[in-house]
Amino acid sequence: MLRVELRALHDGPIETTADVPADAPLLADVDFVLAEAVHVGGRLMESGAGRYYWHGRLTSALTAKCRRCLAEVSVKLDAEVRTLFTEDPAEDETAYAVAPEAGELDLSDMVREELILAVPEYVLCREECQGLCAQCGKDLNDGPCSCRPAPDPRWGALEELKQRLSHDEE
Ligand SMILES: [Zn+2]
Ligand SMILES: [Zn+2]
Repeated sequence: MLRVELRALHDGPIETTADVPADAPLLADVDFVLAEAVHVGGRLMESGAGRYYWHGRLTSALTAKCRRCLAEVSVKLDAEVRTLFTEDPAEDETAYAVAPEAGELDLSDMVREELILAVPEYVLCREECQGLCAQCGKDLNDGPCSCRPAPDPRWGALEELKQRLSHDEE
């Protein structure tokens, strides 16, 4: 239930729960891939004239690519959200607007916005992911590739000596 009749709030807070399917029109054209529905749970209460306060949680899961190795990763989402809806949006720029004559409050846009904010910008399959070799593209989590590391001038002399020694052995 993402729409609440404002009149009903005069009698006290109202529990708001809903499951928004991943393919709901509300979530069309977001730039992440939801693996499951978004569960919305929270309560809405009146907080002064023309002001409504919602406190709740958005939980879901999404599928993303590891930023380093591009492997597909499942990411759990669990965001605690505290928002204000107001008939006078000028009073607080982080608040959502409610039309005074609306008669009901629709949480849908808030759910969409807060979900977008909750999605991590950079996803890693694990903290120590080695990523892909920039030269050959091999997944370095499976072991080193055969590309030569960029030469470090400090080791150049030593490297030369080593090569000379190995040539002598042959
Ligand atoms: Zn990775
Ligand atoms: Zn390589």
